[in-house]
Amino acid sequence: MSEFAVDKFRRVVVKVGSSLLIGADGRVDRQWLAGLAEDIADLHNRDHEVLVVSSGAIAIGSTVLGINMRRARLEDLQAAAAAGQVQLAHAYQEALAHYDITTAQVLLTPEDTENRRRFLNARGTLGRLIERRVVPVINENDTVATEEIRYGDNDRLAARVAQLVMADALILLSDVDGFYTADPVADPEAEHIPLVATITDEMQRMAGETRSDIGSGGMATKVQAARIATHAGCATIITSGAVQRPLSKLAAGARHTLFRAPGTPAAARKQWLAGVLEVRGEIRLDDGASQALRNGKSLLPVGVVEVLGNFRRGDVVTLVDSHGRELGRGLAEYSFNEATQLAGRQSESIEAVLGYRGRAVMVHRDELVIFDRDDGNRDA
Ligand code: GLU
Repeated sequence: MSEFAVDKFRRVVVKVGSSLLIGADGRVDRQWLAGLAEDIADLHNRDHEVLVVSSGAIAIGSTVLGINMRRARLEDLQAAAAAGQVQLAHAYQEALAHYDITTAQVLLTPEDTENRRRFLNARGTLGRLIERRVVPVINENDTVATEEIRYGDNDRLAARVAQLVMADALILLSDVDGFYTADPVADPEAEHIPLVATITDEMQRMAGETRSDIGSGGMATKVQAARIATHAGCATIITSGAVQRPLSKLAAGARHTLFRAPGTPAAARKQWLAGVLEVRGEIRLDDGASQALRNGKSLLPVGVVEVLGNFRRGDVVTLVDSHGRELGRGLAEYSFNEATQLAGRQSESIEAVLGYRGRAVMVHRDELVIFDRDDGNRDA
């Protein structure tokens, strides 16, 4: 028996492949999408936070523009993506509006998740959308991505999004209902694996030989996605999307593979921060701010006494208390110059000081690790 129970996962990324969403006529399969929207609305109403990563722009756009996908050049596909993406977004908007759910389109490129400055921007935007109970509909920004740097497949994009928003679960809706020891279409001996505690190189190799998912990179990219997500503390599920209402079927026990995450997303993020070797600056805090940080709050400009070093937004800085002790570290929301100007100022005055509207915090609590201290009691 699997241990999957959707109620355990509050923040969920659902990845939808082109082959599920696009019908034989090359257009959105409205009936299937209506079922998915109903499933999403169910989760949404039970206080889950849902993000969708959906493919389909190139397939729809090719139909609209009369482009033959197999013979098309990269720029044709990018043009198709542009024409298809508006229709894709509109289809989701309509399907979810039926349940009074607002959607937002977010297009990302690999740098948006791999470069820390852009990472903070994307995380901030997605975080705000989720707080406002919006369901983001995310795709790769295919019109500007070049061949070399494309995500190449939305499985990996979905895993990066899960990491970005610290999702608890990533559900990969596929045309196959989980991970098998061999290609189940070609090999009758192929065995379904319901639960994976650790992804091994052997599994990655087995997945490479399986090409069941025609939509994108096959099982190999799904296992890679599971690897990225589970490292970030996000459980990953592969299940069949080739049914009506796939998420409720999954909740009711439909066959799937669960890749278990070793820890929580917060623990994974903190472990990563603690392990970063390149610290670019130092922020000295007053006692109020030090205490607030220990209580799990973000660092506000008002609690900053002094700023040292030479860092840019997204760099790792060390946080030092009034006794000169390193309290922890975090990702700076502001550059050294900005942070220096903002030190000791109220968040309301940020715009007046900088001349533009900035972010409310100096270091966000999700991007912060506080070190445990043996002499912690003496600090109180
Ligand atoms: N971003 C592509 C599209 O919307 C799909 C990429 C993929 O399926 O992996 O058509």
